[in-house]
Amino acid sequence: MAKTAIDELQERVRGKVVLNAPMDRFTTLRVGGPADLLVYPEDREDLTELISFLAERGIPYFVLGNGSNLVVRDGGIRGAVICLTEGFRAIERREGPRFRAEAGVPLRRLVRWTVDQGITGFEPLVGIPGSVGGALAMNAGAWGMEIGERLVELEALSPEGRVQVFDRTTLRFGYRSLDLPPGYVILAAVLEGEPADPEEVKAAAKAFFARRKESQPLAEPSAGSVFKNPPGAKAAKLIESCGLKGVRVGEAEVSRLHANFIVNAGMATASQVVSLIGMIQERVFVKHKVKLEPEVRIVGEWAKGKVRVTD
Ligand SMILES: Cc1cc2nc3c(=O)[nH]c(=O)nc-3n(C[C@H](O)[C@H](O)[C@H](O)COP(=O)(O)OP(=O)(O)OC[C@H]3O[C@@H](n4cnc5c(N)ncnc54)[C@H](O)[C@@H]3O)c2cc1C
Repeated sequence: MAKTAIDELQERVRGKVVLNAPMDRFTTLRVGGPADLLVYPEDREDLTELISFLAERGIPYFVLGNGSNLVVRDGGIRGAVICLTEGFRAIERREGPRFRAEAGVPLRRLVRWTVDQGITGFEPLVGIPGSVGGALAMNAGAWGMEIGERLVELEALSPEGRVQVFDRTTLRFGYRSLDLPPGYVILAAVLEGEPADPEEVKAAAKAFFARRKESQPLAEPSAGSVFKNPPGAKAAKLIESCGLKGVRVGEAEVSRLHANFIVNAGMATASQVVSLIGMIQERVFVKHKVKLEPEVRIVGEWAKGKVRVTD
């Protein structure tokens, strides 16, 4: 990007700007090449200014949460990556068991906050290393609960810079998906739980975390479940039945603890991760005639001069 464009950006936007941001440092799987620009708008006004700057210059953008559901390709991301995890961190109580949380609030904090407030319904999210924005965009959930079912309304910024409030009934949440028009940035959400004794909420959250710790490789870099569960089956079981636990492409490895996780066993590249994804899909298809669909989002460009791996 031309120097003058960067200067202008830094004049117009107050938030931190990182040039050539290595995406392996901003994703939990720890793979991915550089993003041209990584910007942390400080507030709504700052974000609106950023979006209008990018529109004027025809610069594409991608919204990043905590990077816990992403495989960023080795060539990185052209254009801007917008991240709300520094500026959009407020969480406040509304009437009854309702509250409003901004997109950058980590789920870890949201769960802790609901425990303190005596609000139940969010405990299954404990241990998911995402942000509120990412969780809503993915309709994150666990053990039968999905965040979409707790939504009252969602605030988002349109690509034209207009704040829109979506009532729950106007949004379509699916299995790990939300049908938000392209280019919208989730700003905040009003969520609703049920009133409960804080001690009981705490105990429930603790129990969910223990379950997660037992079954998932939380200490190793990963992007969580790689594949969606196909109807009537568990992706992990299908993968395990093909003898794939521990199988590697380079340093990308099928977790020995949970077959639906790929862990970065060292210096894995996105290309290795995507090759391993392809290998798993092929083996599972040959054995079970089931096409596994990725739950992780694969974004960005392949490194130049490297053989492109089909995904
Ligand atoms: C150890 C581990 C365990 C996990 N367990 C679970 C689990 O039990 N259940 C589950 O559902 N997931 C799980 N995940 C996956 C992941 O944590 C969730 O999908 C999480 O909600 C993603 O949030 P994020 O902020 O990291 O989003 P990112 O990974 O940064 O982004 C995911 C998608 O959301 C979009 N997005 C992010 N923020 C915004 C925004 N403000 N506006 C618009 N779009 C946005 C991005 O563009 C991208 O398309 C796990 C991951 C790990 C590493």
